[in-house]
Amino acid sequence: MYAAPFSYHRAASLQEAVKLLQELGEDARLIAGGQSLIPLMKMRMARPTALIDINFVSELGDIRTPKGELHIGALVRHADLEHSAAGATIPLLHDCAAGIADVQVRNQGTIGGSLAEADPSGDWGTALLALDTSVICFGPGGQRTVPLEDFIKDAYTTVLAHDEIVTALHVKLPLKGSGGAHLAFKRCAPVYPTASASVQVMIEDGNMCKDARIILGCVGLTAIRAKEAEAALRGKTLEEKNIRTAADAARAAADPQSDMRGSADYKRILVGTLVKRAIGIAARRARGESVEAGHEYAGR
Ligand SMILES: Cc1cc2nc3c(=O)[nH]c(=O)nc-3n(C[C@H](O)[C@H](O)[C@H](O)COP(=O)(O)OP(=O)(O)OC[C@H]3O[C@@H](n4cnc5c(N)ncnc54)[C@H](O)[C@@H]3O)c2cc1C
Repeated sequence: MYAAPFSYHRAASLQEAVKLLQELGEDARLIAGGQSLIPLMKMRMARPTALIDINFVSELGDIRTPKGELHIGALVRHADLEHSAAGATIPLLHDCAAGIADVQVRNQGTIGGSLAEADPSGDWGTALLALDTSVICFGPGGQRTVPLEDFIKDAYTTVLAHDEIVTALHVKLPLKGSGGAHLAFKRCAPVYPTASASVQVMIEDGNMCKDARIILGCVGLTAIRAKEAEAALRGKTLEEKNIRTAADAARAAADPQSDMRGSADYKRILVGTLVKRAIGIAARRARGESVEAGHEYAGR
């Protein structure tokens, strides 16, 4: 099906994009990679009267590493991150970027668009929550910084005002001795995962977990931080028994819905298994091992 008629506007600067959002009103939408918005428009589930293209705002496309931080521009494509030095330094980012959909979607879809869309099954909202991430927003009042945990309010709902734009993500570089992993399970490449888990651990004395962050994806209306699972690891050795306790706590924290991807019970079991595996991979990476990980497909 074709999308309903709309007018097209190209913004050359952030200021111009904000002005267009104000002038064109509530039914105008920004377009970045178009990988969420265009399918919704073709299905007539979204009917914006105007699209404001931000792909020509040059400052949104950079990946930079000022001291101790990683700054990712909102227009950075999943594929850019997959092949970036940042992805090589922080393997969790590579796990996430390389597993999203297929090459076509990864070449077009942007990290800013993913967070702004706030799809409960999206990967970036889960992966970036395992790291210390802030969302940089620009609007008529200038710039504001929102911690990622406060940015996504509900399924498909963020704190962004209609005339605000995500300009970048600022991620604190993980400290030495830490490692992470983002794992997801899906039926095939061009679909969203059935469940996902992101884990970041900090290790001391070889096997002692000093700190942990455990985030569950696709098993709630937003990504879920499994704090009891984190507590089950903090200050403990990363042995089988403690990892199992953490995975059980993660399962209990999940709040999945049954849908075409699987029953709620199935997703709950799946997310616990992903957490268990992700803790193991994160710990090996924290010890300096190079481990390949990411999205896994059914029947592989
Ligand atoms: C077949 C298919 C499979 C997919 N599988 C996965 C998957 O496995 N995992 C996953 O995470 N994603 C998946 N996606 C989604 C993909 O990652 C999209 O790229 C992403 O959700 C949206 O990014 P975009 O740049 O395409 O945004 P767009 O579609 O251009 O925009 C999405 C929404 O965000 C708004 N927006 C865009 N940029 C900004 C900005 N800078 N500031 C404020 N608002 C903005 C738009 O107005 C719109 O409302 C899939 C998509 C497809 C088509």
